[in-house]
Amino acid sequence: MNKQKYVYLDHAATTPPAPQVVEEMNKYLFENYANANSLHSRGQAAKDVVEKARTTIADLLNSKAKELFFTSGATESNNWVLKGLFEQLKKSKEKLHFVISTFEHPAVKEVAHKFLVEQDNVEITYVDPDENGIVSAEKIKAAVNENTVLVSLMYANNEIGTIQPIAEVGEILKNLNENRQNKILFHTDATQAAVYLDLDVNKLGVDFLTLSAHKIYGPKGVGLLYFREGVKIKPLLLGGHQEDGKRAGTYNVPAIAGFAKAVEIILEQQDQDIEHALLIKNLLLKELKAKLKDFVINGDLEKRLMNNLNISINKVEGESVLFHLDDYGIAISTGSACASGDLGPSPVLAAIGVKAEDSHGSIRITWGRDTNKEDIIFFVDKLVDIVEKLRKMSPLK
Ligand code: PMP
Repeated sequence: MNKQKYVYLDHAATTPPAPQVVEEMNKYLFENYANANSLHSRGQAAKDVVEKARTTIADLLNSKAKELFFTSGATESNNWVLKGLFEQLKKSKEKLHFVISTFEHPAVKEVAHKFLVEQDNVEITYVDPDENGIVSAEKIKAAVNENTVLVSLMYANNEIGTIQPIAEVGEILKNLNENRQNKILFHTDATQAAVYLDLDVNKLGVDFLTLSAHKIYGPKGVGLLYFREGVKIKPLLLGGHQEDGKRAGTYNVPAIAGFAKAVEIILEQQDQDIEHALLIKNLLLKELKAKLKDFVINGDLEKRLMNNLNISINKVEGESVLFHLDDYGIAISTGSACASGDLGPSPVLAAIGVKAEDSHGSIRITWGRDTNKEDIIFFVDKLVDIVEKLRKMSPLK
């Protein structure tokens, strides 16, 4: 990599690991690399690190430590909820009905789709967000039926950052469950939400919650699934008896220690992170409104993560903008990183009613702790130049 100025505005794709996280991880890469299942003293010390990490993360979620299970990331956690519940219930129920939003992450949506294609006894109801990118709790209520086993609704959307009314849905489901024998379980994918929003599982009223460390300044390849004590799902991975026999595989001790350090930092400085993200948001909006012509904001401007802006720029291609910005050392995204490579219009933007031609001109800007005011001014100035140049060349003009 060269020494060019680098402006990273793609925090929704992944966050830079905090220096304290890397320092913590190094201890378990260089000093104590023992297997946390080994009976010798270093093995037991490694197991203590895992259990301490579980306790730290339980603090953030206001859960019990034993309700948390480490996984390889949010993809695995989401797969586990749906597949584990399906395997748990498929023999005892004639019909299994799942309710999910139309703009869930593919790690939920693809699993649901596979059920639908392959299983006779599965029904899925997809609930649309409104044009502001919010799925109303009332719509979820209207979608459930007597066969519903699970509602899965993400906490904050990965492309447009809009925040979903999780606590409200939790309350509605709790009331419905009082009169039902077959309880409806509630899952939220909180992968994008964890730096900025309240993750108290009791306030949210969820039975399952997904997290991923690399979206919160931790390492890649580690995440967790919270599931409420008493809730039963089958394991996804069979093998050793790690994680109380529920998730096999050697403990990734360095990653788990790094994950816990990232959570510790959130517990210490969430208010500062929010304040900083809002400061950057206000500056970005001010700069864009003053300098860039003809763009619209996708998704509700207030009910969204403080570090996300998704805009459609008229008469340009988002990908062209991305590559030109990259030449200046500026990293942004079009749609989600998981969907890039797929140049079709973003399913998330389609779900909120953005027309295909506007969707093609959309970019996602996501900032973080390391973003400063100069970065934003540099970004907007370069963006404006690039858009002007592209518009002059555009056959659409
Ligand atoms: N869910 C959401 C909402 C996400 O944003 C992502 C990452 N793009 C995932 C799940 C998958 O996360 P992981 O990379 O940890 O598998």
